[in-house]
Formats: sequence, C-alpha cells, structure tokens
Amino acid sequence: MLKVHSRCDLSCDHCYVYQHADQTWRGRPVRMPPATVRAAARRIAEHAREHQLPDVHVVLHGGEPLLLGAAGLREVLAELRATITPWTRLDLRMQTNGVLLDEELCQVLVDHDVRVGVSFDGDRAANDRHRVFAHGGSSHEQVRRALALLRRPAYRSSYAGILCTVDVRNDPDRVYEALLAESPPRVDLLLPHATWDHPPQRPGPGATPYADWLGRIHRRWVDDGQPGSIRLFEALRPGGGGTEAFGLAPADVLVVEADGTWEQVDSLKTAYHGAAGTGFDVFDHSVDEAAGHPGVAVRQDGVQGLCATCRACPVVDRCGGGLYAHRWRTGSGFDNPSVYCADLFRLIDSVDAYPGPAQAPPSEWSTASPLDDLLDDLATGHGSPQTVRRLADDQLAITRMLLAACREMSDSAAAWETLADLELTAPEAVRAVLEHPFVRPWLVHRLDPAARSDVGAAADPLPALAVAAAVRAGVPVTVDVPVRADAITVPTLGSLLLPGLGERAEVTVLPGGFRVRGGSADRTVLLDAGEPSAGWRPVRNVPAGRLLIEDGDPYRDCYGQPVAARLDDPAVQALGRTLVEAWRVVCRDVPAHAASLDGGLRVVVPLAPDPARPLRSATARHAFGAVAVTPHPDPETVAVLLVHEWQHAKLGAVLDRYDLVTPGQGTRITVPWRPDPRPPEGVLQGVYAHLAVTQVWRSRAATDNGDASAHAARFLAWTREGADALLASRSLTAAGERFVGQLRHALEETRVGSG
Ligand code: SF4
Ligand code: SF4
Repeated sequence: MLKVHSRCDLSCDHCYVYQHADQTWRGRPVRMPPATVRAAARRIAEHAREHQLPDVHVVLHGGEPLLLGAAGLREVLAELRATITPWTRLDLRMQTNGVLLDEELCQVLVDHDVRVGVSFDGDRAANDRHRVFAHGGSSHEQVRRALALLRRPAYRSSYAGILCTVDVRNDPDRVYEALLAESPPRVDLLLPHATWDHPPQRPGPGATPYADWLGRIHRRWVDDGQPGSIRLFEALRPGGGGTEAFGLAPADVLVVEADGTWEQVDSLKTAYHGAAGTGFDVFDHSVDEAAGHPGVAVRQDGVQGLCATCRACPVVDRCGGGLYAHRWRTGSGFDNPSVYCADLFRLIDSVDAYPGPAQAPPSEWSTASPLDDLLDDLATGHGSPQTVRRLADDQLAITRMLLAACREMSDSAAAWETLADLELTAPEAVRAVLEHPFVRPWLVHRLDPAARSDVGAAADPLPALAVAAAVRAGVPVTVDVPVRADAITVPTLGSLLLPGLGERAEVTVLPGGFRVRGGSADRTVLLDAGEPSAGWRPVRNVPAGRLLIEDGDPYRDCYGQPVAARLDDPAVQALGRTLVEAWRVVCRDVPAHAASLDGGLRVVVPLAPDPARPLRSATARHAFGAVAVTPHPDPETVAVLLVHEWQHAKLGAVLDRYDLVTPGQGTRITVPWRPDPRPPEGVLQGVYAHLAVTQVWRSRAATDNGDASAHAARFLAWTREGADALLASRSLTAAGERFVGQLRHALEETRVGSG
C-alpha cells in the first residue's frame, strides 16, 4: 500500500489517519516525492524477482490519492508499471473518496489499468453522518457522481467496488439499497475502528448491535438471491478464505508512507501513536527486512499468534480474532480477542443460520451479462489483465478439448496416465505446458485428416506433453516419444537433435532433466547445466523477463509466412534487448496496453528475414499467447507491432467463443487501409488493431513534434471509417454491434482524453 498523498480533502470524523491515536501524518511530506516512489517500486520489483512472485498488488492510498492530480498520478503509475512489470504481474488498485474524480482522472486510471475502490457509506443520511468536508458540507453528491462516472462503459474496467464503514445508527435497509443502486462490482463492509481502550458504541453489556445490523443486511442479500459480491459475508462462510479482518491467513500487507518509511497495516493507527511503525524505510531496507518486524511476523503464525481465548474459540478458523488493531488494550497489547468478539461470534452464527442457496453468487452487482462485460472491457482498446486471463482460460479449455480428442488416436497409455496424474498432483505444471502457444497447433495438426499423410508432422503430441509436464513437476516417469527428423521437441523447454534416434525414443525424466534412448543414441539432458548438453537447444528467455523467444518448436510455423531458423546467440541477445526496450516503450506510451500484454503474451517468434519486406508481424488464431515479428532494431517500431498484434490475438480468442459477425453472409466491405474489399471479420480485426495503434500515436503526439500527430490522425480516421462501415453493413450480431459501438465511443475518448 503506497501512501502517495498524506492529506485529504474530506474531514471524516471516523478517519483513523487523522482522528485517532496516531498523528504521525503531521510530520510527513504532503505528497510522496518521485525519488521515494522510485525507491518503493524498486523494492517491490526486487522482492518479486527474488521470490519469483507470479503477481503483486499495489494499492495507492492516502489521505486522498486523487489530490496528486492527473499529471502526478500518471507519473506515479508510469513509474510503478515500468519498474515492476518486467518481473511480475502488477495488479494496481486505488482507494479514494471519489470527490475529485473526473473524466481526465478516469482516463488516467483506465490508461494504467487501475481498479478503484470508492469509500461511500450508503444513503445521504448515512454518508453525511461522517463523510463531510471540513466546513461540514455533504460529500454525497460528489461521490455519487464519481460512482456514475465509473459505471460508464469507457471507465467501467476501473470500477473495483465500494468500501462502506458501518454505523449502527444508520438504517441497514436504506444503506443496502443505496449500495445496490450504484452497481458496484464488490462491496466491502467495514466495522468502525475501535479498541478495548476506546470500545464501539453499544446500548448495554451483552448487546451485539453490529452483528444485528450486519445480520439484517445479510438476510436481505440472501433473500434477494445474492445479487452481487459482499466480501464480508463470503469471507465468513465456512471455507470462505477470510480477509485481512477475518480468518487465519498470514498478513501480507505492508505500507509505504509518503516519506518512504515501511509501516504495518495502517488500521493500527487507531491503537496508539506510532503503532504501525517498523523503523525501516524503502531507501535502506528490503521488503523482507520490513516483513521480519515482530509485529508483522506474529500475524504470519495463524492460530498460534492469537490470545488464549481465541485459540480455544470454536469459530477461530473463520473469525481469526478479528482485525489485529481491534485487539489492542493498554497493558496486554494485542494479546486479546477483538473488541467486537461478541458481535463476530454472533454474526458467524447468523451467517450459518441463513445460508441461502448453495450456488456461488455472481461476482458483480452488474445487470450486464458476462459477455457484455467482457466486450465492454475489451472495447476500451486494451482490456484489463483479468479479461485477458479469462480469454486465456477459454483458450486453455479449447486446448484441453483437443487434447482429449487426440487421446482417442494415441497409442501411449503411459502419456495420458502421466498427464492425468500430474493434473491432480501438479496442475500448474500441466497448465504451463498446455498454455504454450504451439501445443494447440500441434493438436490441430494431429486431428487434421489431410495432414496425416505427413507421418512426422502429425506425430502423437501426448508423449512429449507428458514429458514436458513431468520435467516441470520433477516427477520421474518413462514415456516413449515419437521422433521427428532426428529430433524430439519438449514444449516450453526446447528440442533435442540427436541423429540415430530412430522413430521412437524412450525418455526417462530425471532430477533436473531427462535421459533419451533410441536406436543407437543415448543422451542425458540436464536443464540447469552451465553449458547445454550436446544437441539440446533450449528455449531462451528475453533477459530480465518472462517472455520466451521460440525459434525451435516445429509447430511455430503457423503464421502463413516463413519463420526464422534457430538464431545464434548474438542474434537472440540482440532481439532480447530490443524486446526489453520495446516493452519500456509500451509502458511509457500506453501502460494499459502493457498490462494487457503482460496478462497473456508469453512468446515471441522471430520471422525469417525478407529484404523485400523487412518489417512484418503476425498472429495465428491457434497460437494464443504468441506473436511473430521480424527481428528489427528499433524498439519504438517493435512496440507498435507488439501492441497491434496483441489486439488480433485477443479478438481472435473472443471470436473462438462468440459470434460477433453473422456467419455466411458473404458481405465485403471497402476499407481505407487496403485496396481490396474485406470480409467483416477482417474489418473487425483491422479496426480493433488500429484503435490500439491510434492510442499509441496519440500518446506519442503529446510529447513528439515529429510525425506522431499525422500518424495518429491517419489511424484515427481509419478506425473511425472502418467501425462506421461495419455498423452500416448489417453484418454484425447484436454482440458485435455492442462491441463496435463501445469501441467507437472509446475512440472518441482517445481523441479527447489521451492527447
Ligand atoms: S476520505 Fe478517507 S482519508 Fe479522507 S478523511 Fe475521510 S476517511 Fe480519512
Ligand atoms: S469470536 Fe472472539 S474469541 Fe472467537 S476468534 Fe473471534 S475474537 Fe476470538
């Protein structure tokens, strides 16, 4: 959690930052200086790299982060994306009171793929009980206007939900209805901060007003069919997983204050002055050092870190002793149950007594269908990483279906059994292999009757997939693998070229590698050996990143144009450097596209050089997760190619699942970017790619006095004309019309907002 601005434009009387025991904000800089943002980003990147974290979550917090203004916010977000995303997937969030939110700020949030939670306590009377300006005026209308902005299709991808602080004097029904009216993706209900020194308001001993109040909302929510996600109720259910406030999961939040000091969760500010301090800062101390602070470490201990009363409690696995700050009592410190203990116990009882139907609730309060949400998000031009992961999941499901079909043709029971066993014991290893972009082309080839005459090319893929997954999982198995042109390919890892292997080779997975025997050949491949084993051609990584350069898998040849043969080391290093630079350019120009690429692009395939056409790029419908490019020395150019091709990949994945174009009409549409009339699907692909390229050039035009404006104007005109021609052609389905209509809207936003 980054405290990027330490002051606020509201003056809520329940605010733990300014109104409770801790007053350290008074000595801190008003806004986090750029050098501190950079140091924090580097610490986070360092931690992700050292621990190989698949993702990290960074929340911009305050005070009020929108006080940074659009330019200041853009600077902070660009720094975080550029420094952290080469190492891990970055989930960016913000918590705001919403008062200052306007179109320009919304556009910054969308551009950088930030999901925003808005603090809002319900109906006007409830909200104005605490959430007021210093002069006492209401903030209700400003916050509702912010929520309405976030519901607009252009900004909806940035709407994360509402955070509502409970006050039992408010009418729970009116609060519930006011929250529901804002269609939030998720609602968080928070108990007001209190300690044993300063307990919450209660009518008398033994009363549980918070459980009663929340229980009323819980019953409404269940009776209404659980129309959206309320995190508190979901977390308290058996197996609900908990939150920072409930359950026994280890605490995993650290705060960077505006002056760069590491702090513990800032709800501790409610306990006593300086309670959240660690004595560490981002300039001199790593995340690990801060996380080693005893106050953080004790919250890694599960039930052992709780007081004796909680350890003996029958609902401790779900309550977890409540929020750490709420356990504070002068004298015994945090070694107490929550000051809300009686309410928590009773609330868990109420949730159990009124469970509702067994099915999980939908994750959003939205009335839009899942397809509408998917298309609306992609129509922003980029689509969020969550949407890209949803597309990746769809693609994986298709690959699994093809795999099952190929099983019918496989004579390797051992391969199928290995994959089935690993699916139970090491599902991540199986997933990593099946998500390799060239597995699906292999399976498709295997199932194509026309390809079967080419015995080598249509070889059974199951054995090689089983070997790849077993090597990744470190599970010793032996499988017979078909040999193609004296080589076996182990998808995601590399190829072994070994003359004399014959038609089939016996592959035994060993610790750190595998042994291959067949014909007159016998070779052991150790994957982590300094020098690759003879004949072994490993897949190579882009330096300092997760992207693979694939120039060995035979099924990468699926782009309708020649792919490059394996590059020598200097060539692969040069391509890697260009890709790293191109990545920085994408982060600089269109960070939301960088986040989208980061969500799904895994492989770059070098195309064969062609002096007549030195600049080419391609995407293959069956190879989601990969783009092909000619090795080109200019990162600015490669950045545009990556963004352009990734649009085709995403839209191709959508078209695998949904009809956006009415099939079989034979329509042809004239477009400005090609001389020949195109089928509607081709126009749709062109429009979607050009929308992204327009966004790149609009961004460059803001700082570039050269040709950027002219390029932006040309792509804008092409995109607009193409979209209008599609809408006029009557060739789109209802979903297609919605998509192109939203996309057209995003185009105008791009015109106004990003340049
Ligand atoms: S909006 Fe948030 S930070 Fe600002 S005064 Fe209110 S509770 Fe505190
Ligand atoms: S209900 Fe009370 S005793 Fe039980 S775990 Fe929660 S705070 Fe501890």
